[in-house]
Amino acid sequence: MDCIVNRTRFLNAKLADGTLADLTVAAGRFSAIAPAANTATPPAGAIDLAGQLVLPAFVEGHIHLDTSFYGDAWRPHIPCTNGFDVRERVAFQMRNLEQAAPMAERAKNQLELCVGNGSLAMRSHVMVDADVGLKHVETILAVREKYRDLVDVQLVAFPQSGILSSPGTAELLDEALKLGCDLIGGLDPASFDRDVDGHLDVVFGLAERHGAGIDIHLHDGGTLGLFEIEEIAARAKALGIGGKVAISHAYALGDISPDALAKAGEMLAASGVAIMTNAPGNHPFPPVAALRKAGVTVFAGSDNIRDSWWPYGDGDMLNRANMIGYRSGFYEDWELESAHDLASHAGAKALGLEGYGIAVGAKADFVALKAEHVPEAVVAVPKERTVYRAGREVARQGRMTR
Ligand SMILES: [Zn+2]
Repeated sequence: MDCIVNRTRFLNAKLADGTLADLTVAAGRFSAIAPAANTATPPAGAIDLAGQLVLPAFVEGHIHLDTSFYGDAWRPHIPCTNGFDVRERVAFQMRNLEQAAPMAERAKNQLELCVGNGSLAMRSHVMVDADVGLKHVETILAVREKYRDLVDVQLVAFPQSGILSSPGTAELLDEALKLGCDLIGGLDPASFDRDVDGHLDVVFGLAERHGAGIDIHLHDGGTLGLFEIEEIAARAKALGIGGKVAISHAYALGDISPDALAKAGEMLAASGVAIMTNAPGNHPFPPVAALRKAGVTVFAGSDNIRDSWWPYGDGDMLNRANMIGYRSGFYEDWELESAHDLASHAGAKALGLEGYGIAVGAKADFVALKAEHVPEAVVAVPKERTVYRAGREVARQGRMTR
């Protein structure tokens, strides 16, 4: 490192377009990207990436830092008694959390797992309801502060027990936004609160009052879910805040007719509302290719990692891109590249990240890994990778190095 100007040189970086480049980082950002010079005597202190593929750090678009048991004791999954039931799952979660390791410790385990795998920006939903009050928000805000030099974390005040069906929650959500949450969440306005307008009035009202973004969990399927998607998109469009609104899961988009999907895609694209998917197992999920073709921002997240909802999740967004590509039937190179896009550029767009990418002026948050190109990275998911934050190594082979 050149100490006088705080500059670091990275040599022989393979870019996504296949060319080899030398990258210069100054004050945490790329200050120059030039064709690899391949000089016999590299400058002192330069880091030779030896042809490794350099990708912008992954974007974890949906996670729950407060409820994972990663690094804690294994919690066997408890099945619902009569088909998937959000209320019952929330009850199982409360029971499990009472016996879990302290939340700050579990959140730290999960954060380090994600950073180790190369995610340096993420959006975490944090539970707010009449039982837990603001306890989860306060804990996760403190963890975020502790890790602010390592990872950018957006927090969503998430009404896990509904809004109207959990009296006092609307006021708590308001408080959570005052405390520092960046977005307001929501949960199945129809099936959970049984009042779409009432639920969305609170969500959009709070977003307007605080200038906050919106990210709503929507599991409702079929025409019911589609109706809610239309309501959310219409409100976002009317307020002109679509670029700050996302719907997570939106399972309905995966089980409606092609005509209905085409209309929904058009409406989502026009409103600017983004769709988050994690390509859940054995469940219809949004058709990624059709939505992208319609101009919808589709991004990716892990969602639950070893929690009361399912035992899966590894905090690796490259592996998530692989799952999304696999479940979407993506075989061609451009399709595999689009799977990667969900976990990178599209995620950055949905989260409104500034200075994202491998470009002069962008933040030097990147991952170097052994792959020929992006399609191979998505298929092979190489674990041998090094993660750099502002041009400084922070993790290697999945483990934190600082
Ligand atoms: Zn979630």
